[in-house]
Parts: sequence; structure tokens; C-alpha cells
Amino acid sequence: MAAIHLKNVAHSYIESPKSQADFALKQLDHVWEDGGAYALLGPSGCGKTTLLNIISGLLKPSEGCVLFGEEDVTETDTSQRNIAQVFQFPVIYDTMTVRENLAFPLRNRGVPVKEIIKRVDEVAGMLGLGDQLDNRASGLSADMKQIISLGRGLVRSDVNAILFDEPLTVIDPHMKWVLRTKLKELHRQFGFTMVYVTHDQTEALTFADKVVVMHDGEVVQIGTPEELFAKPAHTFVGYFIGSPGMNVLPAKVDGNDAVIDTMTIKLTQSYGALSGDVEIGIRPEFLKLVPADKSDIHVHINSIEDVGRHKIARCQLGEQTLAVVVPENEHVPIGTMGIKFDPAHTHVYQNSRLIEGVS
Ligand code: ADP
Ligand code: MG
Repeated sequence: MAAIHLKNVAHSYIESPKSQADFALKQLDHVWEDGGAYALLGPSGCGKTTLLNIISGLLKPSEGCVLFGEEDVTETDTSQRNIAQVFQFPVIYDTMTVRENLAFPLRNRGVPVKEIIKRVDEVAGMLGLGDQLDNRASGLSADMKQIISLGRGLVRSDVNAILFDEPLTVIDPHMKWVLRTKLKELHRQFGFTMVYVTHDQTEALTFADKVVVMHDGEVVQIGTPEELFAKPAHTFVGYFIGSPGMNVLPAKVDGNDAVIDTMTIKLTQSYGALSGDVEIGIRPEFLKLVPADKSDIHVHINSIEDVGRHKIARCQLGEQTLAVVVPENEHVPIGTMGIKFDPAHTHVYQNSRLIEGVS
């Protein structure tokens, strides 16, 4: 096994791209560490499958190269890259039995029969397919077929990496949870590099040690779930991760002051006079509602939702709306209240990117 380096990789499906907008994958330089558990997270159409297919070799990038360890594999086809890939929809042979389907990737590579029997039994056991092994695949439901596809991805013990492209889309919610937990266990047990594509933040955050967030063809942040929560590098990350997402408020920033609507908020760092699209980002967890006489900044509470663990207050600050997390036992009246911003978690964004000030 080896680290996978996407070196200055970019891809356009258009023959002669004219602008950044023509790239399905904007330029990226990233090393996927050997043995890492990664999630590739972003909405539909943001370039996740494009990136995954470049790693597996189904797609040759229009720019840059792919290295496995020191070896340049950009021109090497999929079968020689030693990568297992599980797709969104089942890829199995209907005419074969479940056992034959699971054995296929091993037979194909000339693995000794004894080893095949052992691996197929192991994988079937892990995925709960033990009593289905002699059934023909054609008679099975769509989600059973997808579990077999997963098994085909997991059966080889000699792979560089296993890539999963939204593999649980057709699986029912409870089974989804079971399988995701299994994949995580397998990662711990065997230590393969795994890249798991999803548009679902819960899936990404529970599976991965590192989450790669994509937006509009661009990798906008790579980090642990904690890092993505605490310090979103792009307003999209703030908004896409979290429930509800980060509040993003247009502001004027000058020195240590951010003016939102007509209210001034003190920042912990100084930013000079910022130009371009300037916004303040703060997660609902780091705003606090207080009695009106306890803060200079006032909001109007529009509504309160009870979501179980806590409540979410929807507030009006001048023209802007804000979400605030309120502890379950705290009473919030509809009407005017004061609000406090936690300065340590109040971030400044310029043209959607997080910027650092000076202390
Ligand atoms: P995701 O997997 O995140 O949904 P994709 O990588 O499939 O995104 O697609 C990224 C962009 O590239 C989309 O705009 C999509 O329409 C476009 N695209 C994907 N595959 C092709 C293709 N074979 N030819 C042309 N455009 C494509
Ligand atoms: Mg896709």
C-alpha cells in the first residue's frame, strides 16, 4: 500500500476549457495518506465522482499527475492500479450465485482456491450474507445486490485503496447505519486507505478521520470533523456542515469592528479596512440570547423550534436573520432580546474565504 498523491490535478470534460467554470475539478494538490479514512463530501454535481474516478484511473485528468508512492500511474489503467471501487448502484452478475459474485475479483487475479474460499466466507460473514451464498443474484432485492457489490469491493486483501461512491444510496436507513459502522470497523481492522463519497454530512462525519469538502469543482477544506466545525475555511463549509449551519452575515469590517446592519461587534483580531464581499460567520452554538438590558445588540425573536436536545431560535437582526441554539431548559419569549457573539468563534470571510487578522 502507498500514499496517493494527486499532483496539481484538474479536470475538464470540455476539450479546450476557456475559464475556471469549464473545469469539473479545479486544480488540486493533495496527498491521501496510506491507511487514512477519508470522506469526500459535497452536494450533487460538485465533482466528487470526477475526483474519485481520477484516483481509480477510470478517468485521466486533463492536467497534473497521479502518484502511488513514488510511482507515476497517470497513464496506468484501473486494473493495474490495484484499487477496488464500489459504485452508487449494484455492479454484479445476475446469472452467478452470491458466492460466485464475491469470488469473482479474486478468481480474476488468480488467487488460490483455498484463499478464495476463506476470504469469501469472511466477507459474507461480515456483511450477513452467509445464508445467501448459494442463491442466484438475480432473485435478490436492490439493497441485497448493493451489499454484494460492497462485498466485491472488500474481498481483496491486496488493494492500495477502496473507493466508495455513495454506496449506500439504495439501502434503507437502518441498514445504512449498520453497514457504515461495519466499514468503519473494517478500516480499523485492515487499515486500507478508504475514500467514501457522500452528500450526507452525518455519513461523512461518522465515517471519516478526515473530511474533504467540495463545492463547485473545488476542494474548499480538508480537516477533521472538529476542525470543520470550529473553523470553516469557506462560508460553504460553515453552511453545509452543522444543523443548522453557520450564520453568514454581510458586514463592514474596519480594524477590530464589524458592523452588521447598524450594530457593531468587537472582533478579537484586527483586519484593516476590508474590501470585496465581507461577511461575518458565527455558528448558532456560539450566539447567546440575554435580557435586552444586558447587551447593546438587539434582535427580534421570530420563532422557536424544539429539536429535542436543544431549541433553535430564529431571530431578526435588522435585515438579517440568525439562528441561535438555546439550551433546552431556557425560556425564550417571542419579542426583543439582547444577543452576545462569542468573539473567539466569530470569523471573518472575504469573498467567501476565511481570513486571519492580526492580534
Ligand atoms: P458529483 O459526483 O459530485 O455529483 P460529478 O463529478 O459527477 O459530480 O460531476 C461534476 C460535473 O461534471 C457536473 O457538472 C457534471 O454534469 C459534469 N460531468 C460529469 N461527468 C461528465 C461527463 N462524462 N461528461 C461531461 N460532463 C460531466
Ligand atoms: Mg457522483
